[in-house]
Amino acid sequence: MMDVRNVIIIGSGPAGYTSAVYSARAELKPLVFEGSVTAGGALMNTTEVENFPGFPDGVMGPDLMDGMRKQAERFGAELVADDVVEVDLTAAPKVVKTATGTFYAKTVILATGSGYRELGVPNEKRLSGRGVSWCATCDGFFFRGQDIVVVGGGDTAMEEATFLTRFANSVTVVHRRNELRASKIMQERAFANDKIRFVWDSEVVDVLGEEKVSGVRLRNIRTGEESELAVTGLFVAIGHDPRTELVKGQVELDDQGYIKVDAPSTRTNLDGVFAAGDVVDHTYRQAITAAGTGCSASLDAERWLAEHG
Ligand code: FAD
Repeated sequence: MMDVRNVIIIGSGPAGYTSAVYSARAELKPLVFEGSVTAGGALMNTTEVENFPGFPDGVMGPDLMDGMRKQAERFGAELVADDVVEVDLTAAPKVVKTATGTFYAKTVILATGSGYRELGVPNEKRLSGRGVSWCATCDGFFFRGQDIVVVGGGDTAMEEATFLTRFANSVTVVHRRNELRASKIMQERAFANDKIRFVWDSEVVDVLGEEKVSGVRLRNIRTGEESELAVTGLFVAIGHDPRTELVKGQVELDDQGYIKVDAPSTRTNLDGVFAAGDVVDHTYRQAITAAGTGCSASLDAERWLAEHG
């Protein structure tokens, strides 16, 4: 006979694991697909997390995720380090496939997160969390009195650069073109800030430093000339992509590819399918907000099951 789960959770960041804790404690026996390579989500790539409540001395990203994982397991969540490769979320029951098996569930929670775009230059990954960052809100505080570079020319880059001047000694915005894509108001705010300077027509081609970032190598796109800039921080602000390939064509997405939900609930356009965390959220993008919506998704699924049996 077909084994139909109450809930399958796809994703293992703060949203997925929090859904798993809540669903497990509600005795729904959730099955969680964590992903094969990136189990634990975005915080596995960082060092210290200082803004997750409950850790007055901070906590290392991987330790925080390990704690969430163990908490889910303690209440009986079944965790599988596999990638979901195909879904049919319109079927009843819903179908979830990995490379090795096919699984069925009454409800599905999508918590696949989003990926920050990387520059793709040498040493960027190695120095991630050691001076290379993708999130000013998360890491700005670590850069008090330091000189840093922000890469990008859109609203996010201007917002990050402006925010970082609260802490940094100086912020250099490196942009590939000679004008910004950012909205006029964000541009004006950045231009008016005397801690921000701009390096136009340029790209970062390497990140320098052994244990920590000590500088970046720049190349002028027009002249090809290379130079080094001594900085201790590099913020990459060139955008992010929600991981929605899997559900494209089934679940309704917005024009940037994020899953649309019937906020403040986590309901998608498909009955019994819920979504939480950064795969939905362009705005806040924090571990605590992902965990918060992960909780909501579990409660929404629980209510759906109570109504539909
Ligand atoms: P994610 O954490 O992105 O997790 C989603 C996971 O789902 C994926 O990693 C993968 O394991 C899994 N997955 C995806 N697709 C599939 C699939 N098809 N099958 C199975 N599994 C799948 N926030 C803070 O609040 N404080 C910080 O200090 C902080 N620092 C950060 C530092 C870095 C370097 C980065 C990159 C982010 C940081 N953030 C921080 C942001 C925070 O990590 C995210 O907001 C949060 O992790 C989003 O959680 P999520 O559960 O939505 O998704």
